[in-house]
Formats: sequence, C-alpha cells, structure tokens
Amino acid sequence: MAEKSNIEWTDATWNPVRGCTKISPGCKHCYAETFAERFRGVAGHPYEQGFDPRLVPGKLHEPFKWATSRMVFVNSMSDLFHTYVPDEYIERVAKVMVTANWHTYQVLTKRADRLQQLLSRPLRFASEAKNVWWGVSVENKKHGLPRIDHLRKAPAQIRFLSVEPLLEDLGEIDLSGIHWVIVGGESGHGARLMKREWVA
Ligand code: SF4
Repeated sequence: MAEKSNIEWTDATWNPVRGCTKISPGCKHCYAETFAERFRGVAGHPYEQGFDPRLVPGKLHEPFKWATSRMVFVNSMSDLFHTYVPDEYIERVAKVMVTANWHTYQVLTKRADRLQQLLSRPLRFASEAKNVWWGVSVENKKHGLPRIDHLRKAPAQIRFLSVEPLLEDLGEIDLSGIHWVIVGGESGHGARLMKREWVA
C-alpha cells in the first residue's frame, strides 16, 4: 500500500499485515478487498495472493524510515486483531508504534473483544502510549455497539470510533471514555444510503 494515504483523516498507511475476512455487515463492500482482489495472481505484486490474510514482517520497521511526524493508519488493508495474526506479532507491531513515537498511530478494528483482551495484558505497555489511538468500527446496533463497550473497557490513552458506513439509526450512544468520532456513509457502486437524521 502506498505510504501516502487518500483517507481524509490520516497522512500515511502502514500495513504489516495484508488481507482479512468479513465479520459483519460493515464489511460488505470492503474497499481493501476490492483493491487486493484486483491483483490476485499478478506475479510479484504485493497483492498477488489477493485478500488472503498474511503477515508482512518486511514492513514492520517502515515507520522508522519516515523522519517527519505523520498520522499513520495502521493496517488500512486488514485488521490487526484478526485471528490469523498471532499475539506475538501484534506485540511486535505495538513495540514499533511505541518506539517510533514521533508518529501518531490509529489502529482500527472490528475485532474489539480481542483488542480489549490484549490491551489489558500483553499490550498494556502500548495502552499507556499517548501516540497510539485505539478505535473500533460501528456500522449498526447489533455488531457496532458491543464493540464500543469493549473499547471503553480497554485501557487506552485515546479511544476513537469510526461510525462508517453508518447503516442504521444507532439511537443515543454512550460516548463516555471516547475521545474522537468519525461519521460517514458508504460510497461507491451499490452504496447503502445513510439518512441525514441518523447523525442529527
Ligand atoms: S474487517 Fe475491515 S478489512 Fe476486514 S473485511 Fe471487514 S472491512 Fe475489510
């Protein structure tokens, strides 16, 4: 993935893991899957294996090469807390974020139960870092709201929500312990519509 990002709320992407599998309705039109599958079978391309999950240890130290401070979206092309990724590897990613601390890292997941579990123990050291923001995706009530509870229970200096693609009215949300919220609808072919009153 290019080191410069087109995502509005970040400067760069860093993908020490590539690929993922769908876990909830928010994944239906996953842009990362669409991008990766375009290159399946293209010899030598980073996405030669399409969207199949895999570790990319050669990318682990990439943030050290960026001398100036950046806002870094971690794993824009996967989910760091996917079951495929071993605890020890997630720990290595966290150590880079804590050590290359002139950057700010945004870690976004749909596997919030594992985020809570790991931040409470092996990743405790990273939960205390102010330059690492931990976030969950929230697309609906059934899958999204329990993720907010997991995130709130996880030790972290900065917690954020990515409420996109918003698929229904979430009603009143408890935002205690949450520091930053991004809200948006879906875009692209076949996008599911978001109603203005859902974000009122
Ligand atoms: S969790 Fe994220 S990266 Fe994985 S399939 Fe769903 S939308 Fe795509």
